[in-house]
Formats: sequence, C-alpha cells, structure tokens
Amino acid sequence: MKKISRIIILFILVTITLYFIATLIVPKMLDKKFNVVTIASPYQISNEASIIYNSLEFISDLHSDALLWDRDLLVKNDYGMVDIPRMLNSNIALQGFTIVTKAPKNINFDHNKDDSDQITMPYILQGRPIHSWFNLFERAITQCKALHQFEEKSKGKFRIIKSLSGFNKYLKDRKNNKEITAGFLGIEGMHALNGEIENIDKMYEAGVRMMAPVHFFDNKLGGSAHGVSKKGLSEFGKEVIKKMEQKKMIIDLAHSSPKMIDDILSIVKVPVVTSHTGVKGTCNSPRNLSDDHLKKIAKSKGLIGIGMFKGATCDNTIASTVKAIKYCIDLVGADYVALGSDFDGATETHTDITGLPLYVEEMIKNSISKEQIEKVMGGNVKRFLLNNLE
Ligand SMILES: [Zn+2]
Repeated sequence: MKKISRIIILFILVTITLYFIATLIVPKMLDKKFNVVTIASPYQISNEASIIYNSLEFISDLHSDALLWDRDLLVKNDYGMVDIPRMLNSNIALQGFTIVTKAPKNINFDHNKDDSDQITMPYILQGRPIHSWFNLFERAITQCKALHQFEEKSKGKFRIIKSLSGFNKYLKDRKNNKEITAGFLGIEGMHALNGEIENIDKMYEAGVRMMAPVHFFDNKLGGSAHGVSKKGLSEFGKEVIKKMEQKKMIIDLAHSSPKMIDDILSIVKVPVVTSHTGVKGTCNSPRNLSDDHLKKIAKSKGLIGIGMFKGATCDNTIASTVKAIKYCIDLVGADYVALGSDFDGATETHTDITGLPLYVEEMIKNSISKEQIEKVMGGNVKRFLLNNLE
C-alpha cells in the first residue's frame, strides 16, 4: 500500500514538473511556428517613404491577435509581429488587440464545424488560469486582463483606449511625447459570450470596445463566412447587435457570412467596420468583401481594414495588400480605408509591425497621394474613434 502511494506521489510530482517545463518551452515554440513573416526585419526603406512615414501623426492598425500567444509585449521580441517596443519604434499610435477564444482544427476559409478547438491545449500549456482552460468567456477575460497588466507595467508608455475622453487625453499627451503608444480591445467571435447576453456588460467592463459576431464557425449569433450554414443573423444575434449599439461598442463584420453582413447592415444605425479583410475585386476568396458590401460599409461611414496576409490578398507580397487598398480607394474613396494586418493571427504576414513603412513606399509607387496615405495609415481610424467612442 505504501509503495503504491509512493508511486502515485512520484507520478504526480513528475507530471507537475513536466507541465511547468512545458509552460516554459511550448508557448514560444507555437508562437514562432504559427506567426511567421514573409520578409524578415530589419527593412530597407526608401528616403521618400521614410520622410512621409515619419511625418504621419497617427498610425494605426485595427487587428492583431498578439494576446493569444501569451508573449511578453513589454519586451522587444525577435519573433511574432507586435509588441510595445516595436510599436514605439515604428511610431504606432494605436493597435487593435483582438481576442480569439476558439479555433476549429483543420481551419479553412470554406467550411468549419464548431466541434473541435485548437486553443484549449495552448491555453493549458501557457499556464493560464485554470478557470479559463475550458471556458470561452473566461479565456476572453484573461486576455483583457493580460493587456491591462502590460498597461500597468509599461510605466505610462502604453495605454488602453476605452473612452472618448481617454482618447482625447491620449492625443493631447502624444502631441508632446511620441514615446507613448496605445491599444484597444476587440473580440473575434461572440461565442465568447457563452450564449449569455449579460456577458456583453462584463466584456465592456473588461475593456472590450469592438466585437465581431462570428469567427471561423457558426455560433448562436449566426453564420460565419467559413462556417457550415452560411446563415444570417439569429434572433439572439439581433439582440446582441442592438445591445452593442446601445453601449456604443464597435461592430466588426470580419468573418461574417454575406447574409450575416446584409442582415447586420439592414438593422444598424451606426457605422460598422471590418477589422481585417481582403476584397473580392483583387482576391476572390470567401473571406473577402464584395464591392456591394464595401460600398455599404463606406456608406455607413465605417472602416475597411485591409489585411497583410496571403489569405486576404491571394499573394504574400506588400504589393498585393496595396493593390487591395488602391482598389478600395478607387471604389469608395480614401476616407473609409484602413490597415487591418492580422498580425499574430496564426498567419504568414508580409512583414511584422516595423515593416509598415514599406506599405507607404508601395502606396507612393501606386500614385496614392500623401493625403490619402495619411488617411489609410491611421487618419481614418482616428476620425472614426473621435466620432464613435463614448
Ligand atoms: Zn480573423
């Protein structure tokens, strides 16, 4: 009997030790494996592009999943695509930090069921709090808390934007001090509500200001562009959208099925965004927006964030992203186009965040004017937030 209990204790101790060793090694391994760039830094920038880039007052990207990887965002990492030192180094004024809580196995753009999840194991191996291992809502909250901890430990260098007054204060402070940067919190897929509408209030309290109804699979709100049903907005989805409008939370159409986008656009009275997308006009993919939807988003006075990865642009070049930007400018005007990289979204992006000047360089080559570049690189995001934050 004694021998058996000794074996059990030994087994538990070995398991715990192995678990802690895994938490030190595996998260970094996964981060490096899933988040790769096509063109490695440091980047060679032309003089002309450097001058324009450095003159930009407000540079913003709407979409990075950096929080998913449990990477220390306070240090400059030599992997992944976004962290606070790299943001400061690249004169980034505002980065959207979007939260992913569930991703089906064999993920693809056409047809995903909701019966599997690739995120559970990484969450456990990252040593996240146990209550978040199997609970999507708690997973979202832990990522919100993580960004707040970075804010706290950043010694004033990083702020989370949650209100119009906070944003105005940040803009004022940044005029005299370029050594500060900021982010805002978004969610990809409102399965993170665990089916309970009251959880929107808790998400809001946790700092979330933008939410996309669906991600890679259908959920209680309706159909994903990559799901099975391709359905529109459910009754629950309508309630959620209504509540988001009341709370002045930004509605993100990224990953929604075309029917879902139509349904949302038909009921909302506020501007809507697509935080990261491509356009069917340059890359005919199920994840991308049609001309009709681009026009409707622009008409709502919203934002179209253009992705910087092959899945959105059909090519792993900076030129392909700028082609989509140019297409949008020609179709709806420069006032509604923004950057929506999908940095750290388990995608191969063309560059990391320090490569943004290369996009300016490519825009110059494509005869996009300085005024239009200013808008696309962040001016539009700034205006949008000034008009829509509360
Ligand atoms: Zn996404």
